[in-house]
Amino acid sequence: ELVVVGSLNMDLTVPVTRLPGRGETVAGAAAVRAAGGKGANQAVAAARLGARVRLVGQVGDDALGGELLAAVAREGVDVSGVRQVPAATGLAMIVVEDGGENMITVASGANGLLRLTDLDLTGADALLLQLEIPVAACLAAARQARAHGVPVILNAAPYTQGLEELLTQVDLLIVNEGEAAALCGGGTDPAALLALGPRAAVVTLGEHGARGQDASGVCQVPSFPVHAVDAVGAGDTFCAQLALAHAAGLPLAQAVRRACAAGALATTGHGAQTAMPTGDQVERLFAH
Ligand code: ADP
Repeated sequence: ELVVVGSLNMDLTVPVTRLPGRGETVAGAAAVRAAGGKGANQAVAAARLGARVRLVGQVGDDALGGELLAAVAREGVDVSGVRQVPAATGLAMIVVEDGGENMITVASGANGLLRLTDLDLTGADALLLQLEIPVAACLAAARQARAHGVPVILNAAPYTQGLEELLTQVDLLIVNEGEAAALCGGGTDPAALLALGPRAAVVTLGEHGARGQDASGVCQVPSFPVHAVDAVGAGDTFCAQLALAHAAGLPLAQAVRRACAAGALATTGHGAQTAMPTGDQVERLFAH
């Protein structure tokens, strides 16, 4: 079982013909409400890929919280570890222009209040974390996983300061180019990330694929050629597939290759969770 400790947000998207300026009101098309947040997205991606997944996190005790829990559960994710607390549910407000330019604000709400004391790691094959919850919660989860011999995978997104201690508890670090540069003060070489403490590091390079490094060496994996229409959700799908392949014991280069196939497929449809591929789809792209 993959245990994901992370965020759940309701994504509220309004399509517009052009983004509003400061103080301006622009009429939008029909609003779309969808389950999101990096924790929920990566948990759903892993479930879609065929894994048993348990999500641990928090939503508010409001209507959106219940809706969000139901949506993630419908995707086959075990949400018994998601608490409803007296707070607002995490909310992402997204305005997106024809052509893809967007403006986003995220109110973390219940996600920002997550405290972890004892995490149930019974049956866990791997722990997957992101940074839309407090770093202290990630650190507590990572320490417990380490103590139980459960591998820790951290997608250090969005970039957050104060990760020194957490990075020493990480088996596999996954970041995009911007996060890599922020973490190591410029440059996107996985070797520079390894110096921060993780046993393995992978940098995603969008349409250029991904680069990784661990004790056995360096790997450079090209992306799979697909007709990309929307990159939203590609990073989360990549992380879910890489975590599963790593937990299954695949060598890093093979795990990254599989993750690139999953990430590529996620770009061929619109939205985050709606466009996530199944394990069969990943196999088929592989066999090609
Ligand atoms: P993020 O969205 O987190 O910045 P990336 O843009 O680096 O992440 O994308 C994550 C992964 O998704 C990449 O490593 C790659 O494997 C895949 N991917 C992203 N964009 C494309 C694309 N245009 N074609 C094929 N694969 C892609």
